[in-house]
Amino acid sequence: MATHKVKNLAVLTSGGDAPGMNAAVRAVVRTALYHGLDAYAIYEGYQGMVEGGDYIRKMAWDSVGGMQHRGGTIIGSARCAAFRERAGRLQAAYNLVTHGINALVVVGGDGSLTGANTFRQEWPSLLSDLVEQGKISAEMAQDHASLSIVGLVGSIDNDMFGTDMTIGADTALHRIAEAIDAISSTASSHQRAFVVEVMGRNCGYLAMMSAIATGADWVLIPESPPDVDDWEASMVDVLRAGRKAGNRDSVVIVAEGARDREGNPITTERVKNVIEQGLGEDTRITILGHVQRGGAPSAFDRYFTTLLGHAAVEEILSASPDAEPQLIGIRENRIAKSPLMYCVEKTRAVAAAIAARDYDRAMEMRGGSFTESFRTARTLMRAMPHAPEPGQTRLRLAVMNCGAPAPGMNTAVRAAVRLGTDKGHIMLGVTNGVEGLVEGQIQEMGWMSVAGWATRGGSELGCNRDVPTKAQLYPIARHLEEHGVQGLLMIGGWAGYETAHMIYKERQNYPAFNIPIICLPAAIDNNLPGSDLSIGSDTALNNIVEAVDKIKQYAVASRRVYVVEVMGRYCGYLALMSGLATGAERVYLHEEGVTLADLQADLAQLRKGFERGKRLGLVIRSENANPAYTTEFICALFGEEGRDLFDVRQAVLGHMQQGGDPSPFDRIQATRLAARCIDFLVGEAGKPEPAGVFMGFQAGRVEYHDLEDLPRLADSALQRPKAQRWLDLRTVAKIMALPGPLQ
Ligand code: ADP
Repeated sequence: MATHKVKNLAVLTSGGDAPGMNAAVRAVVRTALYHGLDAYAIYEGYQGMVEGGDYIRKMAWDSVGGMQHRGGTIIGSARCAAFRERAGRLQAAYNLVTHGINALVVVGGDGSLTGANTFRQEWPSLLSDLVEQGKISAEMAQDHASLSIVGLVGSIDNDMFGTDMTIGADTALHRIAEAIDAISSTASSHQRAFVVEVMGRNCGYLAMMSAIATGADWVLIPESPPDVDDWEASMVDVLRAGRKAGNRDSVVIVAEGARDREGNPITTERVKNVIEQGLGEDTRITILGHVQRGGAPSAFDRYFTTLLGHAAVEEILSASPDAEPQLIGIRENRIAKSPLMYCVEKTRAVAAAIAARDYDRAMEMRGGSFTESFRTARTLMRAMPHAPEPGQTRLRLAVMNCGAPAPGMNTAVRAAVRLGTDKGHIMLGVTNGVEGLVEGQIQEMGWMSVAGWATRGGSELGCNRDVPTKAQLYPIARHLEEHGVQGLLMIGGWAGYETAHMIYKERQNYPAFNIPIICLPAAIDNNLPGSDLSIGSDTALNNIVEAVDKIKQYAVASRRVYVVEVMGRYCGYLALMSGLATGAERVYLHEEGVTLADLQADLAQLRKGFERGKRLGLVIRSENANPAYTTEFICALFGEEGRDLFDVRQAVLGHMQQGGDPSPFDRIQATRLAARCIDFLVGEAGKPEPAGVFMGFQAGRVEYHDLEDLPRLADSALQRPKAQRWLDLRTVAKIMALPGPLQ
């Protein structure tokens, strides 16, 4: 419940708009209502705060319904010159106090957050001026003695210190990847070169990540200008080598703030001229511009921003009024807070370092994962088939997919094949999963065999859920031996992990199994141990969210409840996260179970909502949530009992969840993890007892777990990890779904 002196709370969006801002507003309002506070939205950013009147509106539970899926910011944003002046801020303070508001959540960029901080620092003096001018009473000033503020970062550029992702950046990557995928297909039809400019101001994040995600041939970012004076020649060399190896197109991505070592801007025009002169190729420029800002927010920008909005209100309620204001963001895949102005200063320091041409410092300040991603992008772009160095052992490393196909598998295979070949090793592909292993379907994978795989969904190598029988281990060992396999990269889901574990455990009996083995998590269900996220789950979530958007759009025409069944087997990750991202009122998970009492309570809740005037209900059920209370059963029950108020339909989303091109996030993670896997295999090969591991990102770091630990960390009957951290997010999902305040 509300502590100290928070009276009413307001939220505003300011500066450049960013997809996901609406989800933040919704979450702030609903969390505030849940805690029994009055919640206000301030329309048009600081402009509305200065103008007051109808710009400051009290929000009810339903006022923020149906906004999460919309791009931009519904409550508006504006640049406001008046707020930069004390007179404007004095007027803003008056408007807040007269609405009883003394807590603010500001969603904006560094400018907006700086403005908020100044406003807070001046607050006591602004109030005393208002008292002096006779505009408010001394009691009113006393009642609102301090202003609490919390910042969330809305910016597609992902340029803010203190958070690994800003609101809108993931969606912008979606827009950029869609555009570059489209450009690549026309470019390769005509063997053309394309120079694409992406946004990002001083930050190369969008350029670098979209280069990884689309398999681009070169990227130029502000933080790390080309490290040679004659960068034009080295770019042309790399593009030429790519063409010689068989590339049908060249794509160069230029961040809008790109520059050379001397600080001179590198424009798309300049790059185009260099390519035309160096390669004699027809070269076109595409400036993506504002499409990058637009469109429906991605799944991440909905669920994650919901968590941020919730955390912002919790922070306001728990912090003491004189504590330093905080910025709430994500670090290492967790919600994290940091002092607001420290983050703003650090952000500005990066810009200053770039301006001062201190690029090493700029890179260092961007952080480890930025630097690592840039290194991976550069390595992949420069990777070419290489003969081994003199004295180097040329390894034969096999790659395979196992389990159900997951978007991103191809991306990982491509990265592994190219990086392995670049290091002088021979890369082998096993087709059709375990079946191929048993039958010896193992062949060398050439450089061009993976062309275009970065962006392609499904599994080109082929895979299935088979796990070998004991009897099949012998032919597997024989084929591994015949092909001289010295390391195995298993890119797959549960069946892949089990297969790897079996092979690992049989080392004593089959010497061919005494090779390094590494499992890269790829399963849409996100049911693999040792990894916060598996490759494919982000794409599946986006598929679900897009489908639910369409269902919702259609369903609001009549009073209807939709029961949507999503995949996941016994793992409820997709159900819970899609519930958070789509604003479902209820999510049924196997982990939590479903009882008749639950169903009755949920039905009563739905009835109450429709009696209040609600037009659409959304319930998400994980496919194996409960064997008796099936999707059909729930539909029948709700349909019968809600007949006078709404009708009920079911939507079993099925295999479309697995399909489609991988999302940018899945492509990026697949590439980063594959790079680590190749390093691992090369490092372990030749050791007397090479390690067998499964790996993945945990709390932002790549972790490796011995295959021996698989049974300890995973529940093999339910095929999911024994500990699932995301289950903690159920609290937020419930707060978002229950019209507060809680009784
Ligand atoms: P962003 O928040 O995206 O960085 P701006 O820098 O344009 O965008 O800031 C948005 C708004 O925040 C400005 O129009 C202004 O009203 C307010 N603002 C920005 N900087 C300050 C400041 N130093 N002092 C007071 N208000 C500011």
